[in-house]
Amino acid sequence: MLLHTKIAELLSSTEVDRDVTVKGWVRTKRGNKNVAFIALNDGSIIHNIQIVAEVAKFPEELMKEITTGACLCVKGALVKSQGQGQSMEIQAKEIEVYGPADAETFPLQKKGHTMEFLREIAHLRPRTNTFGAVFRLRHHMAFAIHRFFNDKGFFYVHTPIITGSDAEGAGEMFHVTTMDLKNPPKNPDGSINYKEDFFEKETNLTVSGQLEGELAAMALGLIYTFGPTFRAENSNTPRHLAEFWMIEPEMAFYDINDNMDLAEEMLKYLIQYALDHAMSDLEFLNNMYDKELIARMKSVIEKPFTRLTYTEAIDVLKQQNAKFEFKVEWGTDLQKEHENYLVEHFNGPVILTGYPKNIKAFYMKQDDDGKTVRAMDVLFPWIGEIIGGSQREDNLEKLTTRMREMHIPEKEMSWYLDTRKFGSCPHAGFGLGFERLMLFVTGMTNIRDVMPFPRTPGNAEF
Ligand code: ATP
Ligand code: MN
Repeated sequence: MLLHTKIAELLSSTEVDRDVTVKGWVRTKRGNKNVAFIALNDGSIIHNIQIVAEVAKFPEELMKEITTGACLCVKGALVKSQGQGQSMEIQAKEIEVYGPADAETFPLQKKGHTMEFLREIAHLRPRTNTFGAVFRLRHHMAFAIHRFFNDKGFFYVHTPIITGSDAEGAGEMFHVTTMDLKNPPKNPDGSINYKEDFFEKETNLTVSGQLEGELAAMALGLIYTFGPTFRAENSNTPRHLAEFWMIEPEMAFYDINDNMDLAEEMLKYLIQYALDHAMSDLEFLNNMYDKELIARMKSVIEKPFTRLTYTEAIDVLKQQNAKFEFKVEWGTDLQKEHENYLVEHFNGPVILTGYPKNIKAFYMKQDDDGKTVRAMDVLFPWIGEIIGGSQREDNLEKLTTRMREMHIPEKEMSWYLDTRKFGSCPHAGFGLGFERLMLFVTGMTNIRDVMPFPRTPGNAEF
């Protein structure tokens, strides 16, 4: 491999008038008979480096091959640029075309493609400025999540992706099977005989790592998971994917207030991390798409999140019922329009707690009033629900009673109930949707544009 330097390093270099080698893809080429100006990008940073090539020095055939999309290796002198708009440029001495890109068929010729079109060419869209910025930010956020939890003494736990439990009820599941779907083995009563399947039972892709995460927390204390989750809900919204990544911390000895504190601290840390480590990408996205992006990020960090109970929120929302499509009363689940109203009304993130137990999962800790549970949802400007979590029910009696009420098979969940039988402890946790966070830190409006290869109903290309 020939040694080469990243464009990110060259653009901030103070050592000029030296020979360097760069490798990257041509974004644009312009110029005249005598000189060509090639904007080269290698993905290390949003900015291109300008290559100046004296046409007479290079074979005509080679110059013709240098078109938008082509991959080049360029050797030359790094010099301070005389031109406007860039600090450094390279005066080319040698150019090798690694891979030309046919100008007739390369789809990214001109600027200003629609997001819809770019989704259709998701294999090439990382070569645009926008998706370069989004995917670099995605890396920074993933890295920051691990750093945040590691620094706080949390252990990273891998929970299964193929799960034998379908009890969490967080969403519709995808079946996992090796059976012949045209001719599955049947029981005498006509039902499918899963004993004949690969795992000798019915299995699905996980909708959440929480239940297994709880098992780990009750041994290791503080844990988090960060992995793919799958929901077969047929909801074609700009906020839902069929395959998305979720961060799920679970903490022994945390109550609902500790849980809220951690969620708020984590979100602020992650947003600050993006501001500290990805400013050039944020500035690009801010200028191109969303003039409020950076200001919105900063405003979320600056002040405490508003915390209120579901009951208090309903009192606020009820006064606005006239303008809502879905009217609220105590007991209704909140819709996007209500979440939006609350974040606007309180002018920033809102954490809601104390939800009616009938609209929440069986494992949430029941309040003494018998009506509400210690759930918490974090609602964000631009996004709506970004986190869902709760303190968990640690009382075996109450947990099993609730499971019976909700028709959740106890036998199948015996492993989960064992934690309440043997050394049960107060604990809490939450789930952060990684792509919802990505929407917030990129200003993208559709979740399909923060995932490299999005899976949605009717779409599993690439
Ligand atoms: P929503 O009400 O928005 O559909 P949910 O209540 O079903 O979400 P939870 O089960 O609480 O979601 O999951 C925890 C987090 O995972 C959510 O707060 C959200 O950030 C994220 N999330 C949930 N479903 C999806 C999805 N289909 N695509 C992307 N992220 C999701
Ligand atoms: Mn939720």
